[in-house]
Amino acid sequence: MKIAIIGAGIGGLTAAYQLKGEVVVFEKSRGFGGRAATRWYERPGGRIYVDHGAQYLKTENEIMRRLMLQELSTADLSDIGRPVWTFDADHVIREGDPEHNAAPKWSYRHGVSTLGKLLADSGHFEVRLRTRVGKLQLRAEGNYALYDTENALLGEYAQVLIAIPSGQAAELIAASELPQTEKIALQAALQAATYRRCLSITLGYERAVAPRPFYALLNSDKRDPLAWLGYEHAKIGHVLPGQSVLVAQMGESYSLDHWETPNEALVNEVAAHVSKLLGERLTDFDWADVQRWRYSQPNTLAEPSQLNGVLRGLWFVGDYLIGGRVHLAAESGARVAAAIREAWLNG
Ligand SMILES: Cc1cc2nc3c(=O)[nH]c(=O)nc-3n(C[C@H](O)[C@H](O)[C@H](O)COP(=O)(O)OP(=O)(O)OC[C@H]3O[C@@H](n4cnc5c(N)ncnc54)[C@H](O)[C@@H]3O)c2cc1C
Repeated sequence: MKIAIIGAGIGGLTAAYQLKGEVVVFEKSRGFGGRAATRWYERPGGRIYVDHGAQYLKTENEIMRRLMLQELSTADLSDIGRPVWTFDADHVIREGDPEHNAAPKWSYRHGVSTLGKLLADSGHFEVRLRTRVGKLQLRAEGNYALYDTENALLGEYAQVLIAIPSGQAAELIAASELPQTEKIALQAALQAATYRRCLSITLGYERAVAPRPFYALLNSDKRDPLAWLGYEHAKIGHVLPGQSVLVAQMGESYSLDHWETPNEALVNEVAAHVSKLLGERLTDFDWADVQRWRYSQPNTLAEPSQLNGVLRGLWFVGDYLIGGRVHLAAESGARVAAAIREAWLNG
């Protein structure tokens, strides 16, 4: 049975890993892992790795424990160890939730995107990078033909898993040739899910910033422009010795209001805000970067039963079906893989 998976995020890759066999994953970008994303920078003295989407990985569910701790290499895996503390809009910093902090917070030496690479390197399936799927066409015999955005045929598949954020999935369904009633039902179900935007700002220092007892700060009352501040140099192997990198992820309304702000103005404003929060001069960064996440994490979810099962052989995977976390996206992929296997066993 030929299976196509659209999207090499952790949801799509987990499904591919579980299904094995004649599986092809199509990915529009140059890399694996989707929003479990790492960017690297060549700096004097060596390379720096920055997780600029998901900040760390959790092994809170069975599928992530099995993948990360048992089946894939653990050679470059490390627990950040230090806790997450909180701050409020008045900039009062408090120790975080001890229960939450007791659980390991994982990253890899070369960033969280390593999980995607390890899954893709497993040899269980094929991946075609730099291939954006633009259209599906349901053929008379029940297979799906996949086309890229230039309308070139990518192949015919008995099962197709759409493992991309709901907004992009809705665009793909709109462009596809599918029975009209089901197409409208799928579009309506996808529109129920909404995502928030997030501006993720990286600030690099060729010096050590003040040591802190925490790895990151989380805005507890959601009233501050800053949602999250991570100390990337707390992760083993990410930052050169004696240097520092801060990752500032901005809240929803700040991100919306500043979406079009030019990078230079944005990084200066965010560095000034972080300086104020910490009572430390951090406006003298040596380098900076900005990532604009149109789909960062879902605010509202879609109902899986209104998507999976609507058209035979067409499946949906992703965090918008289950919750905006990497381990939940993996679980969504594992659930669909199990459903496909069960349907196949039952003929
Ligand atoms: C700023 C930010 C902070 C976050 N913080 C955390 C955190 O600390 N902890 C945590 O667990 N989670 C966090 N998350 C959420 C987590 O990253 C996501 O929930 C999870 O990675 C989603 O995985 P996915 O497989 O569903 O989708 P994605 O990772 O979005 O994967 C979809 C893939 O499909 C590709 N694609 C899209 N359209 C097409 C197409 N037409 N053809 C081919 N390929 C296509 C994309 O390029 C992408 O690689 C964060 C996310 C962001 C952005």
